[in-house]
Amino acid sequence: MITLSNRFSKNYKFALCEKMRETGNNHKRRPLAETTKPANHVYFFDTTLRDGEQSPGCSMTTQEKLTMAHALEDLGVDIVEAGFAMASEGDFAAIATITQAIHKPRIASLARAKKEDIEMAARALQFADRARIHVFLASSDLHLEYKLKISRAEALDLTGESVRLACSLVDDVEFSPEDATRSERNFLVEMVRIAIEAGATTINMPDTVGYTTPEEYGQMFREVRERVPAIDAQGIILSSHCHDDLGLAVANSLAAIQNGARQVECTINGIGERAGNAALEEIAATLYVRGDRFGVTTGINLNQLYPASQVLGQLITFRPSPNKAIVGDNAFAHESGIHQHGMLANPLCYEIMTPALVGVAHNHLVLGKHSGRAALRNRFEQLGYTLTRDELQHTYYRFVALADRKKNIYDYDLVGILPDQIREKRREPVSELD
Ligand SMILES: [Zn+2]
Repeated sequence: MITLSNRFSKNYKFALCEKMRETGNNHKRRPLAETTKPANHVYFFDTTLRDGEQSPGCSMTTQEKLTMAHALEDLGVDIVEAGFAMASEGDFAAIATITQAIHKPRIASLARAKKEDIEMAARALQFADRARIHVFLASSDLHLEYKLKISRAEALDLTGESVRLACSLVDDVEFSPEDATRSERNFLVEMVRIAIEAGATTINMPDTVGYTTPEEYGQMFREVRERVPAIDAQGIILSSHCHDDLGLAVANSLAAIQNGARQVECTINGIGERAGNAALEEIAATLYVRGDRFGVTTGINLNQLYPASQVLGQLITFRPSPNKAIVGDNAFAHESGIHQHGMLANPLCYEIMTPALVGVAHNHLVLGKHSGRAALRNRFEQLGYTLTRDELQHTYYRFVALADRKKNIYDYDLVGILPDQIREKRREPVSELD
């Protein structure tokens, strides 16, 4: 049994966790009535705190994980994978702490197909309103032979045993055949069948190494669904889990949904192992904006996407790149003159969704050397200066000359290029554009 070090003994939460880890005191959980979701509902399984957190620069303290868990609850994710209970004392403590503060989403812990992992996960989750143990075992020959050093037959036995054990401890068990996309298909199908027979109600088929393509990944879901009739007969949820090594994580996840997956595993800002996981905000926004192509519902509050991204950015060591879809600083910025003119006339000219939809307060018209007169006049209006046509023309020449020398033009630069007589005519600034 792993024991917690003394330095934590005065801390209530850690002391509690220690007791839980050692006694295995299985308090009766209070299961909440699960609202039945329609067949076209896609469950969002967020793994920012597990797959995301285990990647470089993303480690978080228990308190930070709790802050993030609150943001995920506000966002409306269905399942929060809060950690990997057996991996460390910190993971165990974070899961236990989150189960006591977060009540809307189901809380999950990852576990290898090992007795001690599964029991540790159950202990960490014992106070959860709704708990899930997420058991994984490799299904590819490469992993079985070199990493686990077990035969296929042994892997199938372990699948059944570990899922049965997990089902005896919690009422919701997910099973993942790790490296599913590089597994021999007949063996994968067999492993899925055994996991379902043993009681798993969610089957996640991960593209662990970010190797698959949308067409191939979608086909795998279709085939497994066809060859394992229990999936549709028993309402088993199929799940995607994609990594972005080839930049295809979101596209692959969407292909899985189009082929019957009803759970997506993803992370805020796409953080995660190596090139990261599928970005939650991109999947959620796509399912909404292109609802015509997907026809599914989700529980995601879209206007919490940007706030959740901001919370994460403050907790870990890096923020999304400025051009990151949905949540990057420039995701709604328009610099070219033609685009800016069109945006001012009607945002729909160049915008497929409003910034407000995903929780961005306003769009940023970035002024640079490609900006046109319309954007310049608009920015001056916002700053409190109304320019006549001639004044604008005159100021625009100065602006272009400045923009040639300077990469970013700030408001004080703009004020600096105004002729004196205009600068003196300043009125109260107007609020930002809608
Ligand atoms: Zn992963």
